[in-house]
Amino acid sequence: MPLPEEDNADSGAQPQPPESRPPDRPDRRAGLNRTLLLALAAMLFGYLIAGRMDWLWRDTGEVKRDFEVMRTFARITIPAGNGSSESTTALADLAERAVREVNDLMGPRGERSDIRRLNASPAGTWVEVNPITWAVVMEALRWNRLSGGAFDPTIGPVKGMFTFDQGELAAWPDAADLARAKSLVGADKLRFDREGMRLSWAVDGMTLDLGAIAKGYAADRAIAVLVSRGVKHAMVDIGGELRLLGGKPDGTPWRAGIRNPRWNHSDPDAALSGRLELADAGIATSGDYENYFTHLGRRYLHIIDPRVGLPLAAGPGVAAGVTVVHPDSCLAADALATTLCVLGPEAGRAFLADQALGLFSRGVKAIMLVPREDDGAMRKITYTVDTKGGLTVEEE
Ligand code: AMP
Ligand code: MG
Repeated sequence: MPLPEEDNADSGAQPQPPESRPPDRPDRRAGLNRTLLLALAAMLFGYLIAGRMDWLWRDTGEVKRDFEVMRTFARITIPAGNGSSESTTALADLAERAVREVNDLMGPRGERSDIRRLNASPAGTWVEVNPITWAVVMEALRWNRLSGGAFDPTIGPVKGMFTFDQGELAAWPDAADLARAKSLVGADKLRFDREGMRLSWAVDGMTLDLGAIAKGYAADRAIAVLVSRGVKHAMVDIGGELRLLGGKPDGTPWRAGIRNPRWNHSDPDAALSGRLELADAGIATSGDYENYFTHLGRRYLHIIDPRVGLPLAAGPGVAAGVTVVHPDSCLAADALATTLCVLGPEAGRAFLADQALGLFSRGVKAIMLVPREDDGAMRKITYTVDTKGGLTVEEE
């Protein structure tokens, strides 16, 4: 190692013959050099240890974070080797917080809920909402317009006439009450002020319900937070609405099953109607098997047909399950799954064809399970919109 310039200067500008140096000088220099070297080595060692230490305590192993939110179960999976050097636990904390924030702002209740405040406000009163609530409401209104009213986030008054507890409905609501509830449905009666991000009702008694897209949005938001931290592989599942980021770190796809809507829980082999192996996708499912009630032997879905003002009745021709795969938005997958349930197989096909270059210009796939008119056996119809606006329909 070359000596520092100062040491040479100290010994004089000219090199001196060894015999002219004082006898103790070489030893002192060697001692100094050794001390300096040791100090430098110690500094380097300390620096390396400090720089590496958080590697020792930072946990980078796979995290599966399970929690309850939006009246369902959520799971955030952050694998080892996800592309970020941050702790997987810390990343899961951030993603969970993002999901909980959507619930806090857009759930029907709670201190911070914009929806609670809006639903409690009389007609004509402006309610300012959080920018993220605003973005989701604007999406809901867009889907309402483009679906010709099949998707409608103001179905609350009709939904409120029924209890969806999977039990028998004691008495069908009165026709007059149903007519009144229907008159309080219509997203065109939700006024909005873009500048102030404010919403207000045109008619008293109306309510906003983001239940058909909020889970999908929450999954997107959790993934967006992870992406901002450098994560390249993750999966967020909120009550069956999934957003996949990349594939698994080993290069294999994520796997998801399509539930058989008529599975009676006895035969495990019959639980699934299909399997999906995917990377980078939003996946959402709507159907008649999780949230429903029965009345006089008929099953009714928690999905309302806003055009007739009644819950969809399960049966031939009505989708028992719709699973949508969107390339990059779980909100869009969620909204479309609900919309296709309302529209059914034929109008659903027309909607997909109409919006192939609009809502679905980045491509989309929908798998619809519909009981057949004659024998009730399940038809499986797969609709695929490609990025050039083409629609193909296959039936098994
Ligand atoms: P999903 O499970 O995503 O299909 O959403 C169903 C939920 O969305 C219901 O529980 C209602 O809260 C709400 N909803 C019901 N019918 C509609 C509809 N036609 N358009 C939009 N949201 C609806
Ligand atoms: Mg939905």
